[in-house]
Amino acid sequence: RIPLLAVDGGGTKCLAVLLDESRRELGSGRAGSCNYQGIGVEAASRELAAAIHQALSQVQAAEADSPTVWEVECAVMGIAGLDTEYDRQVITGIVREVLANLSIRVRHLLVENDGFAALLGATSGKPGVLVIAGTGSIAYGVNEAQESARAGGWGHRVGDEGSGYWIGKQAITAVLKAADGRGEQTLLTDMLLPHVGLRQVDELFNWTYGPHYSIEKVGELSPLVSQAADSGDEVAAAILQRAAEELYLAARAVIEQLGMRDKSFQMILQGGVLQNDERVRNSVMEQVSRYAPGVVYEGAQNDPIYGVIAKGWAYLDRRS
Ligand code: BGC
Repeated sequence: RIPLLAVDGGGTKCLAVLLDESRRELGSGRAGSCNYQGIGVEAASRELAAAIHQALSQVQAAEADSPTVWEVECAVMGIAGLDTEYDRQVITGIVREVLANLSIRVRHLLVENDGFAALLGATSGKPGVLVIAGTGSIAYGVNEAQESARAGGWGHRVGDEGSGYWIGKQAITAVLKAADGRGEQTLLTDMLLPHVGLRQVDELFNWTYGPHYSIEKVGELSPLVSQAADSGDEVAAAILQRAAEELYLAARAVIEQLGMRDKSFQMILQGGVLQNDERVRNSVMEQVSRYAPGVVYEGAQNDPIYGVIAKGWAYLDRRS
C-alpha cells in the first residue's frame, strides 16, 4: 500500500507525487494543465491520468512484481477550476474515473481547489493568506477560527486578474492599441511577434482567434512583459503594476472577509508570476503590509505541491 498520492493540478502543469511511509518520494509525474474549465473534461482527464501514470511507472520500475491493483491510503488533489459545487461534482467525477482506469484504489480521497489545498498544507492550521498567480490566479485565506474565504480566480474568460494569462492578454491588447495609434508604442510589439513566430501585428490578431491559440500560450507571454519592463518599457511596467494591484485587491478581500486586518498571519505567494517577477511580488507585499501590518511573508513555501503533500500527512496523522 502506498501511503500518499499528492497532485497539484494547476492551470499550466499537473504534478503527481507518490510518497512512502518515511515520506520519501517513490515517483513523480508531470503533464499539462488539468483545469477542465480551460481545456475541457476530456483533456483534463488525460493530463491528470498522464501525470499519475508516470509517477506509478517509476514505482513499477523499482519493484519486481507490480500489483494488478494499486492500493493508496490517501490521495490529496489540489485542482484548478474547482470553484463551485458544480465544479466539485465534475472534478470528483474526473478524478474517480482516472483512478479507476489506472487501477488505483484509494481509501481516503480529498479533492480541493489548488490554492485551498496548498494553503491548508502550508499553514498547518495557522491563519494565513495565499495568493497564486500562475496561468490563473486566486486568493484564499484561513483565520484562527478555521473559517476560510476566497476571492478572484474566476477563470480566464471573466476573471483571473493579475495572472499570467491576464498579463499576456493585456500585452496583446497593448500591441494592438499601439498599432492603431490608440496607445503608446511599446517594446512588446518587437518581443511578442517573434515569440509566437509572426512578423505582423495583424497576424498576431489572427493568431488569437486561430487554432494555435491556447490559454497556456497566452500565459507564456507574461515573462516577456517582465523583460520589457526591465528594459524600461512603460506600457509593460503599467501592466505589471495593475496586475499587482489586482492581486492585492484579491488578498485584501480575503483578509477583510475573515476579519484578519489587525491580526498576525502568514502570507504565501505562489505561481510563476509571483515567483519570477520581483516587482509584482514586492508590490503585492508592500500593499498588503500597508493594509494589514501584522502580515508575515512566508518565503519558503513557494511551490503548491509542498502544501498539498503537507495536507496529506496532516490528514493521515490525525487518523492514526
Ligand atoms: C481557476 C481557479 C484556480 C486558479 C489558480 C483559476 O483559473 O479558476 O480554480 O484556483 O486559476 O490556479
